[in-house]
Amino acid sequence: MTHTLHIVGGGMAGSEAAWQAANMGVQVVLHEMRPKVKTFAHQTGNLGEMVCSNSFRSDDHEQNAVGLLHWEMRQAGGLIMRTAQEHRLPAGGALAVDREAFAEKVTSTLRAHPNISISHEEVVNLPDDGQWIFATGPLTSAGLGEAIQRETGADRLAFFDAIAPIVYAESIDMSVAWRQSRYDKGETEEEQKAYINCPMTKDQYEAFIDALLAADKTEFHEGETAGYFDGCLPIEVMAERGRETLRHGPMKPVGLTNAHKPDEKAYAVVQLRRDNALGTLYNIVGFQTKMKYGAQTAVFKTIPGLQDASFARLGGIHRNTFLNSPTLLDNQMRLRSRPNIRFAGQVTGVEGYVESAAMGLLAGRMAASEILGRALPVVPQDTAHGALIHHITGGAEAKTFQPMNVNFGLFRPLEASGIKGGRRGRKDRYKAYTDRAKQAWTGWLADQHEGQAAST
Ligand SMILES: Cc1cc2nc3c(=O)[nH]c(=O)nc-3n(C[C@H](O)[C@H](O)[C@H](O)COP(=O)(O)OP(=O)(O)OC[C@H]3O[C@@H](n4cnc5c(N)ncnc54)[C@H](O)[C@@H]3O)c2cc1C
Repeated sequence: MTHTLHIVGGGMAGSEAAWQAANMGVQVVLHEMRPKVKTFAHQTGNLGEMVCSNSFRSDDHEQNAVGLLHWEMRQAGGLIMRTAQEHRLPAGGALAVDREAFAEKVTSTLRAHPNISISHEEVVNLPDDGQWIFATGPLTSAGLGEAIQRETGADRLAFFDAIAPIVYAESIDMSVAWRQSRYDKGETEEEQKAYINCPMTKDQYEAFIDALLAADKTEFHEGETAGYFDGCLPIEVMAERGRETLRHGPMKPVGLTNAHKPDEKAYAVVQLRRDNALGTLYNIVGFQTKMKYGAQTAVFKTIPGLQDASFARLGGIHRNTFLNSPTLLDNQMRLRSRPNIRFAGQVTGVEGYVESAAMGLLAGRMAASEILGRALPVVPQDTAHGALIHHITGGAEAKTFQPMNVNFGLFRPLEASGIKGGRRGRKDRYKAYTDRAKQAWTGWLADQHEGQAAST
């Protein structure tokens, strides 16, 4: 073998990528800047450190998309899931761990691997040659951030997310809401009906503003500056600036006619915009927020048409470095302009420990396959890994791209399954999604074993 794989960042994604590639027989150098260079959130020099919660969320692999990711990672011999299992704490249906023991074990396991060496240093450029995976996470160091911006253009690397809540399309009450773009703009009917609109009367609007002002909000972490505020004020901050501010901003009613009540002029309108190519997810336009999750659900369900809404993810604003992956990365997670460089983890625009580790798993296998000259079968789109990678490298809207958790809204709808739509069919539908995913993932792993056997 002639090539070494360099991985920058030993968090969830980098640790998993190193483990996967090393187990395929590739020599790996893992470059981690801690403890020499610190971040505001990490506390130790350990690999795989959990910066906040000690939970990998739901472990239910039949009814939950993140639980399905757990299952897929376990089948692929994932280090993060194996170590989590060893240091599991009682937490109901969630996979919570003893965070210190977990990170120490990830670190000692990688240190002991004969194909892995660890170098504690900050990498501040994108090398011209060699195979590299950058998995530097939401707190990518400033020097490296600048180097990435020089390569991609400043507007393709964000330093904060500003996430508006995302709703499952099927949970929107279309007997109240209607499809229309403002002033019917657009050349095609699809464009003229690109938005879903939820109307409010004056009383409903006033009650909504009161609820926003009274809601519980999250404080900013130390190190999170408010310098991003100009472009994306949280809605509750807009409401604090004046009760009419939202009605002249994201909730303005102009250029819209209620299809159900054409003679009634709405006092305010909440708009939702399609968030994925499948049309299964819609984000509430301009509704980035720092409200706590419980408050968000309560407040947003007061919006007419969203009274039964199911949220694929709630809103938030965080310090978070991430690429505009749909425009920058190919389906192998390589930088289109520099194919010797891959990205993995949260910096690719997924969100969460599990999703980040999952993207590390894929990037590690993809890079190792390339080095070994083996073709890696395409990751099936119907798996949780496949749904996520498909979303970030192509399925998501590039213009409004914001980090994404895994959720069933990213999955292709089931073909003529006979399963009921809406809430009533949800349990059967989720089971059918996870069954379909497991079959596809098992096949994908088996194809790689066969490929490996054939080449040895
Ligand atoms: C304050 C905060 C709280 C969070 N809370 C949660 C939570 O509760 N649950 C959850 O699921 N997710 C949470 N997240 C998101 C979480 O950080 C990610 O989901 C996960 O850690 C991302 O994994 P990663 O491997 O992509 O990045 P990380 O785990 O952050 O790993 C990146 C690594 O790269 C290193 N690095 C950065 N730049 C360089 C460089 N130039 N050279 C060398 N090394 C470098 C860093 O030191 C770090 O070890 C939180 C994030 C933040 C910032």
